Formats: sequence, structure tokens, C-alpha cells
Amino acid sequence: MLDPQGIELVADRLATVRERIRAVAARANRAAEEITLLAVSKRQSAEAIRAAYAAGQRAFAESYVQEAMEKQAQLCDLDITWHFIGRIQTNKTRQIARQFAWVHGLCDPEHARRLHEQRPPDQPPLAVCVQVNLSGEHSKGGLSPAALPDLLEVCARSARLRVRGLMTLPAPATTEEAQRAPFRSLRILRDHMATPERPLDCLSMGMSEDLEAAILEGSTLVRIGTAIFGPRPTSMSGPMRGQP
Ligand SMILES: *Cc1c(COP(=O)(O)O)cnc(C)c1O
Repeated sequence: MLDPQGIELVADRLATVRERIRAVAARANRAAEEITLLAVSKRQSAEAIRAAYAAGQRAFAESYVQEAMEKQAQLCDLDITWHFIGRIQTNKTRQIARQFAWVHGLCDPEHARRLHEQRPPDQPPLAVCVQVNLSGEHSKGGLSPAALPDLLEVCARSARLRVRGLMTLPAPATTEEAQRAPFRSLRILRDHMATPERPLDCLSMGMSEDLEAAILEGSTLVRIGTAIFGPRPTSMSGPMRGQP
């Protein structure tokens, strides 16, 4: 359980993150309202999510399906938009298609076909960001820019999916200039791939350590965990044990 200090800490950290977004948006001559703050609550408790919700946060992201479903059941009284940002496993696509409004990290045409088929007809199309790997670092997931057109084609034929844009998860870098390089590449790739029917207006890029670099390069959605909730607990048992 979160004590009152814990709740206040989450609210304070959230305010600090919002201020960071405002400050860098001003630097970039952008409106802060263009940038969606997604709170990454993986391995954080339902109480921590409630604390952020009480401070006005509505979009939350989870990486592990089983863990997410447990928390969604505990939080079903809240008006949360749930995003899935984890690695998609083939045997979990049915739950992902039912339990989430957005999926970041789609990079496999077979997963696209399954999510399309499994998205319940009474729900709006599943919003999708396709994950692109710009560093060739395949442990992080994502497809190569060369493979992007084919996947976008599969998505265009899938009425139960709505492609919103591109996502990337670069290797950590220490200077702002080094952090900006892969984000710039993603934006340029987006500019090449966008069409009037498929504007790819969402750029899902930036985390706690590099949100400034991402926003300077055009991010419209930052995925922030640690800077809102503090370090992720590592000693939890259950389905998320041993995962990053
Ligand atoms: C965990 C995670 C984040 C959040 O990372 P922080 O450094 O804690 O902000 C963002 N995106 C993805 C895909 C993640 O897995």
C-alpha cells in the first residue's frame, strides 16, 4: 500500500515531469498540448496508479499482459486509457486485442493479422504504433526501416487496426546530441512514409532519461516510468519475475 507520503511523491514527480515537458516544448517552439504523457506503470502497484490518476493522469502503459490484467481488474472503476508497450508474444495477442486501446511495439505482420482478427467488434479499432529499430540492436525489438512498408500494407488492409504512427526504443545515450540522433531518424522516416490516408502523426519516443531529446525531435507521445513512479521494484514474485 502507498502511504500518504508515497501518494504525494507520485503527484510531485508527475508535476516535475509535466514541467520538464512544458520547458522543452517552449525550447522547441512547440505547444506542450501536442505531447501526450504516457505513464509507464509496469511493475508498479495499483495504488501507485491510483495516486497518479488522482493527480490527473489518464493514460497508462503496461508491458506484461498478465500483470496488466490483474491491475485493470483492480482499477476498473477508473477511466484509464491502457497502452501495451511490451514485447508482443503470439500466444498473448487475444488478450492484448481485448484489454488495450493502444499497442506500441508492433513489428510482426503475423501479430498484426492476429490483433486485427481478435479485436472485438464492439470496440473501436486498436490504435497501433509500429516499432522501428534504427540502431540495428535487435535485442530491443522493432523492424528495420526496409521492412516497414510491408507491415504498413498489412495494417492498411486490417480494418480493426488503426495505425497512428511509429515508435522507437533506442539504446541509452548520455549526451543530448547522441540521444537526439535516433529520434531524428525516426521523424525523417515518418516524413518519408506518411501519406494523406496514413499521416503517421504519432511519434512514440522518449522515456525518463531522454524525453527532452525526443520532444526536440518531434515526439508526440513520451513513455515515462521511473520519473513518475520512482525505481521499479525488482523483488516482485509472479509473472513478471526476471523480466526487464
Ligand atoms: C519501461 C519502458 C519505458 C519507461 O522507461 P523509464 O526509463 O522508466 O521511463 C518506456 N518505454 C518502454 C517500451 C518501456 O519498456
